[in-house]
Amino acid sequence: MFKKFLLAGSLLLAAGCTTVPITGRRQLSLVSDSEMNSLAMTQYKQTLTTAKLSTNSADVAMVRRVGQRIANAVEQYFRQQGQSSQLDGYQWEFNLIDDPKTVNAWCMPGGKVAVYSGILPLTRDETGLAVVLGHEISHAVAKHGAERMSDQLAAQLGGTALSTALSQNPTTTTNLFQEAVGVGTQGLLLKFSRRQESEADHLGLIFMAMAGYNPEAAIPFWERMAAQSQNNTPEFLSDHPADATRIADIQRLLPEAMKYYKPR
Ligand SMILES: [Zn+2]
Repeated sequence: MFKKFLLAGSLLLAAGCTTVPITGRRQLSLVSDSEMNSLAMTQYKQTLTTAKLSTNSADVAMVRRVGQRIANAVEQYFRQQGQSSQLDGYQWEFNLIDDPKTVNAWCMPGGKVAVYSGILPLTRDETGLAVVLGHEISHAVAKHGAERMSDQLAAQLGGTALSTALSQNPTTTTNLFQEAVGVGTQGLLLKFSRRQESEADHLGLIFMAMAGYNPEAAIPFWERMAAQSQNNTPEFLSDHPADATRIADIQRLLPEAMKYYKPR
């Protein structure tokens, strides 16, 4: 018992923490960026080989244009903070998957982005898409996947190092990873916490503003999502409740984001 206690204590000491950009929140970190990025790379390749990629060249170009502009803003932000190393190993990639029934988008660690065509009727235009991509990219750069993975490793595998977990329990560990970064296919998606959601909203508004998109567009976008959720619950909404609290929080964050907004 005592030995176990000691072990848990030293694990926490050894584990270390990381700090979320902009909000400054401290988070548990049991996994390295390079481990997360390399898992993401494999997972992304696998997703793209099984998915049907969109052949709508205008929409594909729009996804890449908006994504790249937000990625540039993120890089600029970290450069200004003297924290460019936070993005080491990032190789941005933006793909549009032809799947009109799936209302979803995600960004994995390392900058691997997928947008499902089913979300485009709700984003409506480039600025609407910037709301979604700003939010998803923020989950990645705030290392929310690594945080969820760390929490899960601590809870389910007794804080085993990721490399050990991968060699001893490859299937469980891969499933944990998919759930942690929000691309799980088990139908048992681990939700981002409310705090991570509001953090991604906060960072996303600032990054979209820096990229030249009016962050005020987030309000009508989430109102459309709220209206949609009355009929059914698309993937994006099961992880992203579009309720009055969220919209009020975004309203409150807008003045800060507007300071970064320079229309193109
Ligand atoms: Zn989210």
